[in-house]
Amino acid sequence: MFSSFENRAVISWDIVTKSDLHIGGHGSSGPADVDLPVLRNNEDYPIIPGSSIKGVLRIELERLLRGCSVEVCTIPDVCYSSRWLKQHPERKNKEVDPCLVCQIFGSGGNSSPARIRDATAGVQLTVIRDGVAIDRKSRKAKPGSKYDLEAVPKGTVFSGYVTLENCSLYGQEYARLGGFLSLVDFFNACAGTMGHGVSRGYGEVEISIKKVKIISAHDYLNGKFDGTVYEFGTSQYESFIGQAALAWRTCVTSKKE
Ligand SMILES: [Zn+2]
Repeated sequence: MFSSFENRAVISWDIVTKSDLHIGGHGSSGPADVDLPVLRNNEDYPIIPGSSIKGVLRIELERLLRGCSVEVCTIPDVCYSSRWLKQHPERKNKEVDPCLVCQIFGSGGNSSPARIRDATAGVQLTVIRDGVAIDRKSRKAKPGSKYDLEAVPKGTVFSGYVTLENCSLYGQEYARLGGFLSLVDFFNACAGTMGHGVSRGYGEVEISIKKVKIISAHDYLNGKFDGTVYEFGTSQYESFIGQAALAWRTCVTSKKE
C-alpha cells in the first residue's frame, strides 16, 4: 500500500484516566498477592498497549461511519482478508481499495497507516480494589470468590504517540490525518472508555492531543528532518487540523451509499 513515502504525521498525546482503569494481560508483573495485576512495561510503569487503543478507536470509527451510511468492514473480517474475500469474490484480483476504516487502521495483507505505540503512565502508583466474581446464572456473588483487582487511579496520565503514514486520501490533502483526529474528538465527546469493568465505572479516559508533527519527502530533500510541528491550542494547529478534518469529511461524503 505504501511503496512510496509522501509524508508522515507523528501525533503525540496524553491519555488521562477519568476513573480507575484496569488493563491486565499476559506479562503483568504486579505485586504477587494481587489476583488481577495491571499490565506494566519492563520498568514497572503501567501501560495501555497500543493494540488496545487501536481496537477501541477502530470499533468506534466502524460504528460512526455506518451511522453516516458508509459501508465499512467489521473486525476480524477486515477488507481483503481471506474471509472477507470469500464474501466479496467479485473484488478478488481487483485493485485494492479498502473501506475508510481500513484506510486508517489497515486491512488484510496491508500494513496499517496508523501505528499506535503503547502509552506509558508517568508514575508507578496503583490502587487495589476489592472485586467479587458474579455467578452468571444466579447473578449473585459466588461463595468465596472475592478477588483483588489492581487499578491505575483516576487522574493518571499515560503518554504515547501515533504515526500516520501518507496522510492524503483520494486526492484530499491530509484527509487521513483529519479522519484520525476527528475520531479522537468524537471518542472524547462520547465519554470513551478502555479496559475492563466499564459497566462498574472503570476505564473512563480522555485523549488529549499535544502536538502533530508532519515530516514530508520534501522536508527530507531540504534537510529539514524535524518537519513542521503544530502545537495543540495554537491558531496554526486549529487552521491546519480544521482543513484536514474538512478533507476527511469530503472523503466520507463521497463514500455515502
Ligand atoms: Zn475495511
